[in-house]
Amino acid sequence: RNSLDLDEVIALDRAATLHPFTSLHGHAHGTAETTVVETAKGSRIRDGAGREFIDGFAGLYCVNIGYGRTEVAEAISAQAHKLAYYHSYAGHTTEQLARLSGRLVAMAPGKMSKVFYGLSGSDANETNAKIVWYYNNLRGLPAKKKIIARERGYHGSSVVSGSMTGLSFYHDHMDLPRPGILRTGVPHHYWGAEAGESEEQFSLRRARELDELILCEGPETVGAFIGEPVLGTGGITPPPMGYWPAIQEVLRKHDVLLIADEVITGFGRTGAMFGCDMYGIEPDLITIAKGITSAYVPLSASIVGARVYEVMENASEKVGAFAHGYTYSGHTLAVAAANAVLDIVEREDIPGQAKTTGAHLQKTLHRAFDGLPIVGEVRGVGMMAAIEFVADPAARTRFAPELKVGARIAQAARDRGLIVRAMPHGDIMGFSPPLVMSSQEVDEMVAIAADATRHVM
Ligand code: PLP
Repeated sequence: RNSLDLDEVIALDRAATLHPFTSLHGHAHGTAETTVVETAKGSRIRDGAGREFIDGFAGLYCVNIGYGRTEVAEAISAQAHKLAYYHSYAGHTTEQLARLSGRLVAMAPGKMSKVFYGLSGSDANETNAKIVWYYNNLRGLPAKKKIIARERGYHGSSVVSGSMTGLSFYHDHMDLPRPGILRTGVPHHYWGAEAGESEEQFSLRRARELDELILCEGPETVGAFIGEPVLGTGGITPPPMGYWPAIQEVLRKHDVLLIADEVITGFGRTGAMFGCDMYGIEPDLITIAKGITSAYVPLSASIVGARVYEVMENASEKVGAFAHGYTYSGHTLAVAAANAVLDIVEREDIPGQAKTTGAHLQKTLHRAFDGLPIVGEVRGVGMMAAIEFVADPAARTRFAPELKVGARIAQAARDRGLIVRAMPHGDIMGFSPPLVMSSQEVDEMVAIAADATRHVM
């Protein structure tokens, strides 16, 4: 027998799988729901019990081109038949790998030079941190190593990336953050602005605080700043007006590198190809994952800017080979999948679709949620959006955490056939659907979300 019935799958899973971000006791003892996902097409997934859900989160902000694209499956299969794997150490390459590197350097924002491959956003951020340290060692600046990350930033859950993540939920009981990671304020006007402070004034204050932090630590000790162009897991929050220009001015003044974490925003989600394009960001290092393969196969990359790479190459005769890499760096199946996905991204103008459908999404969310008695803020850009629920919108007060308002609304949506995410910080319903979702599906999604909210209100 080579297939299990649904109850057998659930029993085996409860007995033997350690799931990420899952209540262990609840899962093992069946008091929390176990969903067996079986098939998916477009923007919808179907479970083992035959229930269908609109996937308002594209998996985890990643299935940008939608589920079930046979063109990608065929590209992976063709590559598997020809050559499933060879490593990329010591200059070994494949046609697919070279092709992908060339197109990524050409399409990336700023002056980029080389692409280093990994398998997850977390490991690509580890790579970028190591490149910052390596670069400053090679420049003879061994003290310039601290990395500044933001409150509520999310950069992954491995040791360095988890330390850069600024959400305590990911640190508690895990001995994170590690030393050498500094924190600066989150650019969220709704919660952070002082009375009467405009977005521009608030952005300038955040930039001043960054400047003061660097001066207080000593610019000779600060190597890099990392940020998501649009804050993702920390609450899906677009930057306030003027934020990125002001931040970049401070970084340039102190010779601090900028790492743009484009794991969510890369490949169209904001309505531009990269978040950096959207906000005029000129990064030194870029982190990409998720959308690069639309999650058909794991793949991530660090894109290294020209000024950083030049130092690395110039020193290499002296220091030897770049001593960093993984067995699966540039995995042959993953780069083949990425090329097939990027063919679709370019041919179907996925960023353009995200811009058009995203404008509809934002408008529809405002129409459905603005002014509801528990809605504090409706925000977003392109195909990422959030509704922030508050106890009192006039006084801007939060619900008590034990009321679990965000989680209850997400559950009510799920009961109605829609997957949205209760974000880990505050009471926030997050949307990040496939970029190919139609306007009609957006209407359906928002109607269900509004119904779920009224049910809990
Ligand atoms: N960076 C950002 C901005 C992310 O949103 C994520 C994941 O959601 C990561 C990094 C980590 O990626 P992964 O889960 O693939 O390690």
